[in-house]
Amino acid sequence: MLVKSRSVMSLVFIYLFTLSFLWAAIFTRHAMASELNHWFEEFKANASDEALYRLLYAMPKGGDLHNHLSGSNYNQWWGALASDPSKNGGYQYYVKTTLKHCDGYGLNQFGPSSSLLLFVTIQASTYETLTSCEQAEYNPVQSLTNIQKEAWLNGIWLDKPHEGREEFFQTHWQRLNQLNNNPYIAAEMLFKNMQSFADEGLLYLETQANASNFLRSDGTAIPMQEVADIYRNRLAQQDAIDTGLTVRLQHVFLRFSPNAEQALTQSYRFVDKNRDLYVGINAAGREDNDKGYPLRFLSTLRKLRQTLPEVKLSFHAGEVDEPNYHVRDTLLLGVDRIGHGLNLITDPSTMLLMRHNQYLVEINLISNLKLNYVTSYAQHPFPEYLRTGIPVALSTDDRGMWDSNMTDEFFVAVKEFGLTWQEIIKLSENSIQYGFLSATEKASLLDKYKSNMKAFTTKYMNKKEVDNTLIKTGHFICSTYAVCINDNDS
Ligand SMILES: [Zn+2]
Repeated sequence: MLVKSRSVMSLVFIYLFTLSFLWAAIFTRHAMASELNHWFEEFKANASDEALYRLLYAMPKGGDLHNHLSGSNYNQWWGALASDPSKNGGYQYYVKTTLKHCDGYGLNQFGPSSSLLLFVTIQASTYETLTSCEQAEYNPVQSLTNIQKEAWLNGIWLDKPHEGREEFFQTHWQRLNQLNNNPYIAAEMLFKNMQSFADEGLLYLETQANASNFLRSDGTAIPMQEVADIYRNRLAQQDAIDTGLTVRLQHVFLRFSPNAEQALTQSYRFVDKNRDLYVGINAAGREDNDKGYPLRFLSTLRKLRQTLPEVKLSFHAGEVDEPNYHVRDTLLLGVDRIGHGLNLITDPSTMLLMRHNQYLVEINLISNLKLNYVTSYAQHPFPEYLRTGIPVALSTDDRGMWDSNMTDEFFVAVKEFGLTWQEIIKLSENSIQYGFLSATEKASLLDKYKSNMKAFTTKYMNKKEVDNTLIKTGHFICSTYAVCINDNDS
């Protein structure tokens, strides 16, 4: 009897001990979270914008889930790679700098290639097929005058107040033109993005990078599988591995093109065969072109899913001015993530569906302002989604075209919406948790993020000041918030 009551006593003791230990752990975690929130609120209240920027730059981050590889390159990167055949796979480029009206007047200026558009870039194999009059409109990229070179590079940059959505959609891609058909440039740009995102403390990049429509320097087509291998080889090089960034690709189709269904089918089959590198499909292209309405792709996807395993989908939806049901219709297509989701705010039943659910909205604050989908951040639905339990993450979209980075997205979110430290952590955790990686890979990245963040907060809370990492702010943050840092010049 005594023995029995002793063992009961010891069980009770173990139970109480474990309970108190658990309570202590929970309490410590809560105390820590509230201490961090308090520290960050105090920091925001007292720090200059420059100090806040430096803190956010040095802060560990998760992933970028909405990134177009060809739109993410800074114009100086384009300039350097286009003019150096030893780094671009041996291609020579020409830039249109003069108009000679070689084919007379009355041509279609609203098609895919307007003869009146300056600073279009072509490769030598195309240049050689032109008439002598047309050739006289172009200069080799290495022979551009300083003024021409600046105008060419600024032609793929939204740097002027009057430039916005039309300039972006109707001239930037048309000017880059055949620079986007060189797989060696694409692979090198992928590496440059990895380096720059790793410098900002990111761990994961899921970028939209196609393998279709690439050309050799002689103008012949390169098979998609060969392009995938060019990406693989670049990612396997030591300097890419040294960035520590995990990278996966999405294949993209242009939603409003006449053959979009075939492009979607091709993407689906290609991603299915290259699952080590490609993890999903995206639908891109301006959504205010009704030819690309979401439900157009329902029957194609249903047909593909009859014979092929699941391919993850993240489609642009709700990046329009008008209220409509694009987000709801896109969810019906089977997507797990929505790109932009701006007009979701106009569709109450879909908002209710998305609260505390498994679908994430990829938020692109700077893109939305630059392309005039909002005219001020007071109109942006991001804080409403974030604070009503709709999963969201911050991303950079075509950041090269407005000279920004992931730090800028956090800076805008903190300045405009007063993010708490816990909200910052949630955004970064979401950007890993909702990536199209395996559960094991995500768990390992989340662990890494948590330990990076723990080391960072311990260091910064004790120091009460920010690091002296050398940084340079881009055009967007300098022109919009007057935070103009260039440590290399000081
Ligand atoms: Zn996008």
